[in-house]
Amino acid sequence: MTYLEQVQKVQKLNEEFKNADSLTLLKYVNEEFKSLALVSSFGAESAILLHLISRVNPELPVFFMDTGKIFSQTLDYKKTLEKQLKLTNIQIFHPDEAQLSLHDPKGIKHKTDTNLCCYIRKVEPLARALKNISAWISGRKRFQAASRADIPLFELENMKIKINPLANSSAEELSEYAALHELPEHPLLKEGYPSIGCIPCTSPVKKGDNPRSGRWAGLDKTECGIH
Ligand code: SF4
Repeated sequence: MTYLEQVQKVQKLNEEFKNADSLTLLKYVNEEFKSLALVSSFGAESAILLHLISRVNPELPVFFMDTGKIFSQTLDYKKTLEKQLKLTNIQIFHPDEAQLSLHDPKGIKHKTDTNLCCYIRKVEPLARALKNISAWISGRKRFQAASRADIPLFELENMKIKINPLANSSAEELSEYAALHELPEHPLLKEGYPSIGCIPCTSPVKKGDNPRSGRWAGLDKTECGIH
């Protein structure tokens, strides 16, 4: 498919699904895209999308970038959700050893160059994971941050279709879904972490503050580079 045809397809899908619920959208993309994967951080709100996927296709590949700086609570949470939701195809991607040796041999690059650190530990591994994938699902929501306020349900990025089935969902709707299905909470939520990434770049947030304000706090950085 040419670039123009891809753009037209994305526009058509955004129009077609603008009022659809997330489950309907996921059922469609699961049938439509033969090489499809979900990318999950197993963070604070990840259980909702993972639960929806488990209802549509528990064998769908779920890609997890283990940066080497992940909270042990997140790794435990991944195991809990994997078992509870009966997800059978979680795939873990690690940073390339040669890149680590070259750019971050002491594991402290996050202190001096967060963009390079994110590139080595997240962006490059994700590019590797998506090499043979034509469409991927992300859990981003518009309410999460001003930088995410306009995200569409479908977008085209590097000739791959990125699907954001929860883009339109509100925080209240997600909480209701999690309560209805009795989904386990990430253990760090009750410790004041509403958005959870790597240990050195995630801080607790005061009640009422922007949930993502604890990510790279004090830096002019709001995304890791994979979005
Ligand atoms: S979030 Fe921080 S520790 Fe994690 S990859 Fe990015 S800069 Fe490195």
